[in-house]
Amino acid sequence: MTAQIIDGKAIAEQVRAEWKERADALKARGITPGMAVIIVGDDPASKVYVANKVKACAQLGLYSIHVELPADTSEAGLLAEVEKLNNDPAIHGILVQLPLPKHLDSHKVIEAINPDKDVDGFHEKNVGALVTGETPFPSCTPYGVMVMLEKTGIAIEGKHAVVVGRSNIVGKPMALLLLHKNATVTICTSKTVDLAKHTRDADILVAAVGRANFIKGDMVKPGAVVIDVGINRNAEGKLCGDVDFASVKEVAGYLTPVPGGVGPMTITMLVANTVRAAERLSVQA
Ligand code: NDP
Repeated sequence: MTAQIIDGKAIAEQVRAEWKERADALKARGITPGMAVIIVGDDPASKVYVANKVKACAQLGLYSIHVELPADTSEAGLLAEVEKLNNDPAIHGILVQLPLPKHLDSHKVIEAINPDKDVDGFHEKNVGALVTGETPFPSCTPYGVMVMLEKTGIAIEGKHAVVVGRSNIVGKPMALLLLHKNATVTICTSKTVDLAKHTRDADILVAAVGRANFIKGDMVKPGAVVIDVGINRNAEGKLCGDVDFASVKEVAGYLTPVPGGVGPMTITMLVANTVRAAERLSVQA
């Protein structure tokens, strides 16, 4: 079997067009959805991510700003910036680019964001809403995976979904979103005994591990849907996922590539969450 490759770029374009219509509807009412990204320090990877986020906003005609703060910014200084954006009516979505320099408490900073503007979905109020039912702001990467599955016409209900990884930004929200769609969900971690036994039982396998080419073809059930969240560099410095594309594509039914799979969806859902934040805040105003 050769897997059908899920084209994340094409799906992202389609989804962006849908959200552009919603953004345009707001603009027709005099509301331009606005997003602010705060970046502390000058980590090169973070700078690329921020530039891509700002570019995606511009593509949909959203207003966006990025606030660049020096690496030695104090916690009080950062919290003051967050508060300023909380009170800025032109800004509907706020995100703080992670990781923050070590002297800053990222939990405290995220909790300072107005939950109605928390487009990353990391605030405890939104995480709690995800656990109990539906959050307005599902965290962008797992949200992007769900939209990808939906647009590809992949049924989730009754399927066994195995998520490898339990981070707060990918693994855990991913498992919850799949559970809400009535999948039977298994979460695997670095402590899981006999990982391959679990992954081989997955109808839908999501890899969010952060280890290059970690999931091999013999760890996958024939015909399974394999979603590769990982972004890694291999020994040659080339971008690759957590899934060994060459061996898995011979076994899986569907497979996402890296690059061009989950990555474009993540940024798209960030823009979507910003438009939704503007819609919600416009009703509250
Ligand atoms: P974390 O490092 O926070 O989490 C990794 C998870 O993988 C942990 O839960 C860890 O388990 C688990 N793990 C590590 N080794 C093993 C193993 N041998 N067997 C089973 N589980 C293991 O990473 P993130 O969740 O933040 O990111 C995961 C990957 O996704 C990274 O490559 C990252 O770059 C990428 N990413 C991609 C995005 C995109 O837009 N495409 C967005 C965000 C992340 P334990 O908890 O026990 O340590």
